[in-house]
Amino acid sequence: MIKDTFNRVHDYLRISLTDNCNLRCFYCMPEEDYHFTPASRLMQVDEIEAIARIFVSEGIKKIRLTGGEPLVRKDARTIIERLSTLPVALTMTTNGTRLHEFADTLEAANIRSLNISLDTLQSDKFHLLTRRNQFDLIMNNIRLMMSRGFNVKVNVVVMKGINETEINDFIAWTKDEPVHVRFIEFMPFSGNHWKSDKVFTWHEILEKISSSYAPEPLTGDLHDTAKKYQIPGHKGTFAVISTMSAPFCNGCNRIRLTADGKIKNCLFSSDETDLLTPFRNGEQILPLIHQNILSKKKELGGQFTADFSHLHAEEIANRSMITIGG
Ligand code: SAM
Ligand code: SF4
Repeated sequence: MIKDTFNRVHDYLRISLTDNCNLRCFYCMPEEDYHFTPASRLMQVDEIEAIARIFVSEGIKKIRLTGGEPLVRKDARTIIERLSTLPVALTMTTNGTRLHEFADTLEAANIRSLNISLDTLQSDKFHLLTRRNQFDLIMNNIRLMMSRGFNVKVNVVVMKGINETEINDFIAWTKDEPVHVRFIEFMPFSGNHWKSDKVFTWHEILEKISSSYAPEPLTGDLHDTAKKYQIPGHKGTFAVISTMSAPFCNGCNRIRLTADGKIKNCLFSSDETDLLTPFRNGEQILPLIHQNILSKKKELGGQFTADFSHLHAEEIANRSMITIGG
């Protein structure tokens, strides 16, 4: 069992497959001349499987594949197939651009639930946010995956002045389609243009929705990052991930493994432990995993608090989101 000093049991591993991506979301991968990590420095298929097995032997029950964009990795199919043999719930966060090529593989791997990111329902705004013209493709793929029976959660990063005016358009989408929209508060990372006044908080989101609808809370569990709601009569649901205004660190059960094989015990941890180099040297990595989790801070990587009004993103020592894995 992997436990930290606050008695939090960690049974959920997020593995980033790559820091490469075919979109350019400014809040995630800011610099145009960003250099992707060369393939030789990434965990290889056998290494991903072997390291994942070590985690599973210590009680990991759920694995999420993420990135970067996990489905741009050339050997993504093999990785998914290999990990599907582990006794875990396997899932993925993706930008949705390649799902039409992977639907069969995901189904065969028994992946039932997908988080797909889409911050706007307007194709011209999508281009501004991501610098790519893939809106229609992603919408089609979201519908394709729903029609094939996948549980689809749509991740929307809400940024004041950019897309908060569309919140109720997303809610309208939940009326006739079984889509689960998750509004995520904008988080600060290295060089991502974050400013405290761009955060549109959980309360502001609820206030906006309540001006047109009567949302009812749904019950959640201890490890939920999302506060869930439903509009009576709607087929879908919505949720808010209130990382900034109401962090959910008390119930945290998540460990992150970066594509270059570093373990991070928190999205905002300043330090990380290299597992890949010792693994390649034939050393035992289990003690390193436990040491890393024992150094986990109580809240938000120990770098800030929910009172973020005076926070500057540059004060936080961290990687950019694309190199961590959301
Ligand atoms: N490429 C995949 C995707 O876009 O879903 C997976 C990786 S992405 C880093 C994982 C999630 O992190 C996405 O839902 C993305 O919107 C979210 N994300 C990235 N930067 C963020 C930020 N600054 N604040 C909040 N969420 C962020
Ligand atoms: Fe790529 Fe996802 Fe980051 Fe957008 S949020 S740049 S799709 S990794």
